[in-house]
Amino acid sequence: MSTLTGRLSAIASIAGRTPTGATVNFSEESPRTVFGSSTFSLAVMKEKLKPDTYASVLSTIKSGQKLSEAVADEVADAMRLWAVSKGATHYAHVFYPLTGASAEKHDSFYEGSECGGEAISKFKGKTLIQGEPDASSFPNGGIRATHRARGYTAWDITSPAYILESGNGTTLCIPTSFVSWTGEALDTKTPLLKSMQALNKQAQRILSLFGHKEIAHVSATAGPEQEYFLIDKTFFYSRPDLLAAGRSLFGAQPPKGQEFEDHYFGAIPERVLAFMYEVDRELYRLGIPSKTRHNEVAPGQFEIAPLFESANVAADHQQLTMTVLKKVADKHGLACILHEKPFAGVNGSGKHVNWSLGNATQGNLLDPGDTPHENAQFLVFAGAVIRAVDKYAKLLRAVIATAGNDHRLGANEAPPAIISVYLGDQLADVFDQIKGGGATNSRQRGKLNIGVDVLPELPKDAGDRNRTSPFAFTGNRFEFRAVGSNQTIGTALSALNTILTDSLDYIAGKLEGAPDLNVAIQNVLKEIVDEHGKVIFNGNGYSQEWHAEAATRGLPNLKTAADALPAYASHEVVEVFERYGVLSEAELHSRFEIAVEQYIKQINVEANLVCEIAQTKIFPVASAYATTLADSVTKLKSAGVATSTATLSKVAALVVELEGDITALKEIHSAAGEITDWTFKVLPAMLKTRKTVDALEALLPDEVWPLPTYQEMLFIK
Ligand code: ADP
Ligand code: MG
Repeated sequence: MSTLTGRLSAIASIAGRTPTGATVNFSEESPRTVFGSSTFSLAVMKEKLKPDTYASVLSTIKSGQKLSEAVADEVADAMRLWAVSKGATHYAHVFYPLTGASAEKHDSFYEGSECGGEAISKFKGKTLIQGEPDASSFPNGGIRATHRARGYTAWDITSPAYILESGNGTTLCIPTSFVSWTGEALDTKTPLLKSMQALNKQAQRILSLFGHKEIAHVSATAGPEQEYFLIDKTFFYSRPDLLAAGRSLFGAQPPKGQEFEDHYFGAIPERVLAFMYEVDRELYRLGIPSKTRHNEVAPGQFEIAPLFESANVAADHQQLTMTVLKKVADKHGLACILHEKPFAGVNGSGKHVNWSLGNATQGNLLDPGDTPHENAQFLVFAGAVIRAVDKYAKLLRAVIATAGNDHRLGANEAPPAIISVYLGDQLADVFDQIKGGGATNSRQRGKLNIGVDVLPELPKDAGDRNRTSPFAFTGNRFEFRAVGSNQTIGTALSALNTILTDSLDYIAGKLEGAPDLNVAIQNVLKEIVDEHGKVIFNGNGYSQEWHAEAATRGLPNLKTAADALPAYASHEVVEVFERYGVLSEAELHSRFEIAVEQYIKQINVEANLVCEIAQTKIFPVASAYATTLADSVTKLKSAGVATSTATLSKVAALVVELEGDITALKEIHSAAGEITDWTFKVLPAMLKTRKTVDALEALLPDEVWPLPTYQEMLFIK
């Protein structure tokens, strides 16, 4: 059978693979010299710009001062010279459209007759500041008619420009905002920047209440942990489902899955480690502070996390990290899969967005110190987060609602679809005391004696970790764990910043002008715990009891994207985004429409793939096998030997069932309209087809099975 060749030759080619040579050698090229070497960093600007210009750039970056055209001109000139010295021939305004991807339009530095000549053309401040890609092919969710294609990109000076290298040349990449001709945001960066501006303003108000003078610009910070799968590229290309939909739509469970729990933090396979070194080197070049790498829970699953940065830079760097992971994987003969649930039955992938806020003068504003009950300022910020998450739980659920993430949320592995806050024992105890009338003590950390003399005593954290919470306090920041591995973090961060802004504004309103600040703080915190304490949950988020209890507490449990997405356009969400000038009603509505559209498009592709693969790959081999079995039964019977038709009956019945499944799926698929049809009709019909195919996989001869199996994809490296 011809199918034999594809899959089995893939395995043979992997087994005979020669490892990628030592392209990374940190002993010759120290990370210190590599770090940021491809970025137009502050250090480069300090060297290349006049002191005045540099000072003005710095104040724009650090405290949001407006940039003048003269300054932009000088920066543009320096940037061009720097980029050309690095071999760049083109520049690109990079932007982040609402598909969640990154987009770029490349223009040459050289113009017409000047090509090849001495002179390098115009790259003036104006070109640096503003670009004009054709916006008509990017989703706008009804913001403007297609014939009105104008869209502008605007330079974001707070995110460093960088050089992107490819095999045949280098491009200067300039991070930008992307807006329509009418000024509406068509991207994820614009609202993120606006939300940070709003957050700074309200955080300043709170800090001045605590008597701080000279308060530095307060910035939201983010450190995103990225989970991903790596499989051999040959398998990836022999699975049309992985290739086109990013996840496997078929596949029987392997004999061995993740039940031994032997992969998490296990020794990293050699081939993967080589890949990781190169990823780190590329990220260092781009000034991305990659820090942590390890195996994750599922076989074939890994994680990478950088040091945290200002939220806007972190969001850009996160997009770049995804690009680098894919690019480097390809070089190593691997495919990096960022889908939230590429393989059923093993853990999916998330992006844990660690988030806080802070500045140069007061430091991290969510750091409780050793005695949080005395640290009123910390409690105000933490209380503000609790209020925000409870009040806008539906919004937080909406920003993580995608077709991919739906397979994860609510399943027994990832955070549940119920948004709750884990505070840890120490902080939960402090808020309990506040509820009871006032906090007087904090549980102390203590020491952890391991009981082996050669090992040091470890300082014990005041709270344990909770891996089941969608939103956990982790010592000096919150970790939003429900974000999907494939998502941009910009959307979640904009929402978090905006709702925290709202809470800080509310609290500042209560505290300003109060005769006794301490009493006022006690009162507002008590009020917050009374009204919003229901969102605090320190138990097991996966348990059935929690689902029941959350319902009695009145917490929303929006199980699917179809249930969750409408929150985008709800009155309270529109109200809060408009109040702080982050997004208008039209912009939010467009976001809602685009999210629904993306969701439907994704499932549409998946349904097409299920029909196609089942019909053209599985059905032929299954029915051929049924015929082979029937022939053999007939022959054995005529030879007068004992024979069984058990397998034949099973296979034949499944073949009939498969035809029925495909027909049913096609009908349901073509009738689907509303998002709920896709969730509650198309997906179940796809799953029904998958069940039949997976049952056939367990019966058909291995050598004819056309799709790489779970066992092969997850374990062969
Ligand atoms: P975990 O133990 O949760 O897996 P990791 O070390 O993998 O933690 O990642 C923790 C992330 O939290 C890192 O990206 C780290 O930089 C980030 N982080 C630490 N402090 C802050 C902060 N103040 N604001 C935002 N992120 C932070
Ligand atoms: Mg982690």
